[in-house]
Amino acid sequence: MTIATRLAAVRQAINDAAQSAGRDPAAVQLIAVSKTHPAQAIREAYDAGQRHFGESYAQELAQKARDLADLPDLRWHFIGRLQTNKTSLITPLSYRVHAVHSARHARALAARATEPVACLIAVNLGEEASKTGVSTDTLLTVAAELHACEGISLRGLMTLPPRGEPSAPYFSTLAALAQAGRDEGLPLTELSMGMSGDYPQAIAAGATWVRVGTAIFGSRS
Ligand SMILES: *Cc1c(COP(=O)(O)O)cnc(C)c1O
Repeated sequence: MTIATRLAAVRQAINDAAQSAGRDPAAVQLIAVSKTHPAQAIREAYDAGQRHFGESYAQELAQKARDLADLPDLRWHFIGRLQTNKTSLITPLSYRVHAVHSARHARALAARATEPVACLIAVNLGEEASKTGVSTDTLLTVAAELHACEGISLRGLMTLPPRGEPSAPYFSTLAALAQAGRDEGLPLTELSMGMSGDYPQAIAAGATWVRVGTAIFGSRS
């Protein structure tokens, strides 16, 4: 199967999931997660109409951005673990930074930016030690801090549910947390949740960005 064929199938599944949830399919945007796949694969997806791409490693993102600089309106989403010493690579290239988890990181991102950096806060809903992310009890405090941070444009929340458990309850929790934030006047309008194995459930729970890699590009070596 070609990348274009797989992409079409994912788009169809996104539409179906949105429609069965009574949502406007246009409110759900697909991020094609291209980490570890070559620039040529991104080109193929781009030629099939895909514009948003997700990368997890700063150096890889920078290299691909150079290789693909000829493609207009390609948008990069940095979805990986943030390291403060890499922020100067990430900030100028990223349309969204999905996994900010502290005001310190946010300030590092904003430090050299010429325009506000659009960010989402990573929430560690499973309270897993192996994962970075803000815990639910401090989330609204961190969100308020980021909202007040000059150079940051806070957009919403992202999560990666624990493996081997049903994702749907985690997705509903993230949606409820975003609502609680909005009730306090925080601009948490975007929800980044859902991967190849569970994006239809994420859409049912209100995802506005789904991050799909394997279902589009095949497995990563
Ligand atoms: C790799 C990755 C994805 C994509 O996962 P697939 O299962 O290949 O769709 C989504 N989100 C994050 C944060 C990732 O690191």
